[in-house]
Amino acid sequence: MGLNVVMMGPPGAGKGTQAARLARQRGVPKISTGDMLRDGIRDRNPVALEAKALMDMGRLVDDRTMIAIVQERLSRPDTTDGFVLDGFPRTVGQAEALDSLVASRGNGPLVIVDVTVPEDELVRRLATRRICESCGTTAEPAVPGVAGCPVCGGTLVPRIDDEARVVVERLRVY
Ligand code: ADP
Repeated sequence: MGLNVVMMGPPGAGKGTQAARLARQRGVPKISTGDMLRDGIRDRNPVALEAKALMDMGRLVDDRTMIAIVQERLSRPDTTDGFVLDGFPRTVGQAEALDSLVASRGNGPLVIVDVTVPEDELVRRLATRRICESCGTTAEPAVPGVAGCPVCGGTLVPRIDDEARVVVERLRVY
């Protein structure tokens, strides 16, 4: 019987990290759809390049594309003993497609691991991230007795860059 695992959880929950640990420990591949898309973009794969604009906005790529990618990946021989999926499924349509796929493989049930982090903790993690205006060091603020950047003493300010905005959008989409 295979170890067929899906890691669910919002951005910032640490599900990718947990997926990698579990996969390594159990000798099955970690399959991250986000990584696959980014690899595809690096390799100039036309399907991945088409998905790039949506990814850059934190929006979801369409089901048909994502299901085809995962279907192909799960047909490779290294998944015979199972897999740890990270980032898929993200929609009901993807979940239904995965259910049928796993049923047709017939090597064990699908186990869902839902990594829950209280929303105020996710928000706290994102909100308390600070960056030094002078040297760019990322640091936790308000360390007792330390007024500014632990490296150069510069002023710590909130990170209000594009990436942070995309993370907020990802949380909303999730
Ligand atoms: P995050 O860091 O938010 O967990 P990922 O690395 O898993 O994001 O994915 C990055 C982007 O790739 C997503 O914002 C989305 O555009 C696209 N993507 C990845 N997996 C899927 C999926 N299963 N369905 C639709 N889009 C996906």
